Amino acid sequence: MNRERYARQIMLKDWGEEGQGKLQSARVVVAGAGGLGSPASIYLAAAGVGELRIIDGDVVEPSNLNRQILHWDRDIGRAKAVSAEEKLKNLNGDIKVIPIMQRIEESNGEELIRGADVVLDCLDNFSTRFLLNKICLKLSIPLVHSVIYGFEGRITTIIPGKTPCLSCIYPQKPIEIRPFPVVGVVAGIMGCMEALEAIKLVIGFGTPLLGRMLRFDGERMQVQIFPLKRRESCPDCGNLDFKEV
Ligand SMILES: [Zn+2]
Repeated sequence: MNRERYARQIMLKDWGEEGQGKLQSARVVVAGAGGLGSPASIYLAAAGVGELRIIDGDVVEPSNLNRQILHWDRDIGRAKAVSAEEKLKNLNGDIKVIPIMQRIEESNGEELIRGADVVLDCLDNFSTRFLLNKICLKLSIPLVHSVIYGFEGRITTIIPGKTPCLSCIYPQKPIEIRPFPVVGVVAGIMGCMEALEAIKLVIGFGTPLLGRMLRFDGERMQVQIFPLKRRESCPDCGNLDFKEV
C-alpha cells in the first residue's frame, strides 16, 4: 500500500490502515459516468478504492460538459466509460478501472452488478434506477441513490432488507422531463456525497443515510433530512425478511 498517498485519511482513527486495506480490496460499481458519476468516481479513485466498474453506454456530447467533469472538449464523441477510465487511471495508477460500454438492462444487469460491494446510482432516468434497485435487492448489495434537478439534489442509502427501497420511496414512477436542467456544481456536491456514503459503507464507520433522505437545495443553501417509510406491499422488497436499522 502506498502509505504516503493515503496518509491524510489513514490519520483518522476510524479509517486507519485497516480501513484503507478494506478500500483497496473493495469493488464499487458506478452506474452512469455523467454528472453524478464523474465526481463520485474521481473521489473514489483518489481515496484508493481498489476496483471501480464504470458502466455507461453513452458517448460524450457538448451539452454534458457543464457538469460531467471526467469528460473534456477533446472527448466529444468518445464512449463515456472509456473517457472515464483514462482520467481515473491517470489520477491513480494503483487502482483497477473497468469500463463497461453498456446500458443496464434486464438481460445484462445482474451480470454487470454481481460481486460489487456497493453500487452507486449515478443514472439520469428512473426506469433504469428501478431496475438497478431490483437487481441490488436480489443480489443483496447496498445501493446509494441520488437524483438531481436544477439546483436540487436528493440522496439516500438503501440496504436490502434493512431500509426502504427505491420502490418504497417512489410508489409511482416520477414524471421524467428530458432534457432536464442541471447546475453542474449541484451534480458535483451530490456525487461527492454518494462517494462518501460508499466509503463509509466499505470501511464501516459513521452514520450512513439509512432510511433517511437528504435533500439539498443549492439555491437557498438549505439541507433537509426526512425519514423514509418502508411499504409493506412494496412489489420489489415486500418479500424480504426485514430487520430495520
Ligand atoms: Zn421496497
